[in-house]
Amino acid sequence: MAILLIIVGIILLLFLVMLFRTLQLGEPPYQNANVELPEVDASRAAAHLAQAISIKTISKEEMETGDYSPFREYHQWLEKTYPTIHKNLKKETINQYSLLYHWKGSDPSLKPILLASHLDVVPVDEATLPAWHADPFKGEIKQGFIWGRGTLDMKNHTIGMFEAIEKMLADGFQPKRDIYLGLGHDEEISGKSGAKSIAAALKGRGIKLAAVLDEGGMISHGLVPGVELPVGLIGVGEKEYVTVNLVAKGTPGHSSNPPRQTAIGVLARAIALMDDNPFPARPDLAIATLKNVAFLFPFAVRFVLANTWLLKSLLVKQLEKTVQTNALIRTTHAATVIKGGIKDNILPSEARAKINFRLLPGDSQASVIEHIQKVVKDPRVEAEIDMADAWGPSKVSTTDTAAYKTLELVIRQVFGNMPVAPYLLMFATDARHYQDVSEQLYHFSPLVLESADIARMHGIDERIGVDAFGGMVKFYRRLIKVWGEAEF
Ligand SMILES: [Zn+2]
Repeated sequence: MAILLIIVGIILLLFLVMLFRTLQLGEPPYQNANVELPEVDASRAAAHLAQAISIKTISKEEMETGDYSPFREYHQWLEKTYPTIHKNLKKETINQYSLLYHWKGSDPSLKPILLASHLDVVPVDEATLPAWHADPFKGEIKQGFIWGRGTLDMKNHTIGMFEAIEKMLADGFQPKRDIYLGLGHDEEISGKSGAKSIAAALKGRGIKLAAVLDEGGMISHGLVPGVELPVGLIGVGEKEYVTVNLVAKGTPGHSSNPPRQTAIGVLARAIALMDDNPFPARPDLAIATLKNVAFLFPFAVRFVLANTWLLKSLLVKQLEKTVQTNALIRTTHAATVIKGGIKDNILPSEARAKINFRLLPGDSQASVIEHIQKVVKDPRVEAEIDMADAWGPSKVSTTDTAAYKTLELVIRQVFGNMPVAPYLLMFATDARHYQDVSEQLYHFSPLVLESADIARMHGIDERIGVDAFGGMVKFYRRLIKVWGEAEF
């Protein structure tokens, strides 16, 4: 009887502790400060963005054959449209087509910051043209939107910054810290000659940045699973991109007297084994994101989130249910290319596949190969990293910095009192090239976007609301003021 009482007591105590932890997650973890925000001329800014859209700065895989005259035209247009910036900031052309602007601050003891954007856009698939409701390269403004390729990714950022700075200069604003604008010309094809060269130039001068802000997270409804209210997401890291070539060799010959498996069968088995044995779940980063918005969830979900020390596996099971949330909690892989065999009656001498991995921070090229060997356990299958398609790791930035906290504050000041959470970006951006010159790389696109509109990026009917674009300009004005003056 006494033992039973003790057990009941322990369970009750445990439950009370878990309840207490849950209640602690019940309050919004922030306070909003109201500030006076500048008025911005959204229609003037929209007209400028529309002009920028009409300059076809499309990046192409073939660097040699690409026509780069639109990039020069874009440079000249920036110079003509923003004369005050070009009078006050030092402009440098890097690697012919990328741009680096330097706005000198009054206090050289403060570490500089860099705002990143890219000048290039992806092409428009000819076959999709009939589905567009506007010419993707004309710069049309209608129905309250600016239409065209680059209105979301990311001429809106570049023009948003320039509109903000041009006006701030005219108003006599002088930042305390140095501010750089880094505008790469090949982000959509890896950033290897643009942002990478800009970062190398800064590194060569011994410059260490306090923070970099690049595209990435945004404010959206439905981006966080289970949360309908708008949530601001700041990317603090990117998943690493690695492709592995799997090769199985076979003995060529006549298919009338075959071995038990041909090279194709060996390779197929290896792929099937990998699909059945994914990387283990590591949900810590996802838990950190969810905890920041925990107060928006129903009690049961909050209870699990507050007590992941005991209920982690329950949460993992839930997150594994959709491909989107599954990608948040583990290194994923996908067999994307397969080749082998030349004729139906000849045994193939070789079969090859490409497996594309997206790595959680903490995994590496070496751990990928190790995982494949452990799972496939077949000496007939060779696995090697495809160096042409391996992008190197990206650091995870911390949220415990003044730069992050003020960024979070500015997001709420400009876009309303909403939860803001750090998260892991599922795609790669230029920001990773700045790792050597900055410990803190933050990804945030100052935009309120419905999740259905996200497909417009790189897709059909890319467009941005004139008001939404005005909000971007306002955001940059506020951020440049706060980051420009804050002492971190
Ligand atoms: Zn982009």
